[in-house]
Amino acid sequence: MSDCIFCKIAAHEIPSSVVYEDDLVIAFDDLNPQAPVHTLVIPKAHYDNIVDGVPAGTLAAMVHAVGEVARAKGLDDGFRVIANTGAGAGQTVMHVHMHVLGGKELGENLV
Ligand code: AMP
Ligand code: ZN
Repeated sequence: MSDCIFCKIAAHEIPSSVVYEDDLVIAFDDLNPQAPVHTLVIPKAHYDNIVDGVPAGTLAAMVHAVGEVARAKGLDDGFRVIANTGAGAGQTVMHVHMHVLGGKELGENLV
């Protein structure tokens, strides 16, 4: 999708702080972090959200990348994974992504 900012990040057309990358996915630090560690995991192909027909192999690659992010960032004390799905849930970028949040005590609040 030519007007999608995350497609442009996946294609390295706009810069990001890359944490992990493979053939299917890329992980990069959130521009507006809500925790000491706040990294986003996205597939390189465009899907609107996590229930937009994302192939199982791509979902598996995203979860694998979550683990790579946790290892790279040293999130040994735990972390949280969030996938806001739809505008009603606060999704603002309509390219499926998982937030990986950690580096502080995470209580009942989402972040
Ligand atoms: P969501 O509200 O779940 O759609 O999350 C979108 C996230 O993308 C927000 O946390 C933004 O801070 C983040 N974001 C938007 N543009 C960029 C960008 N160019 N680089 C890194 N993160 C971004
Ligand atoms: Zn996209």
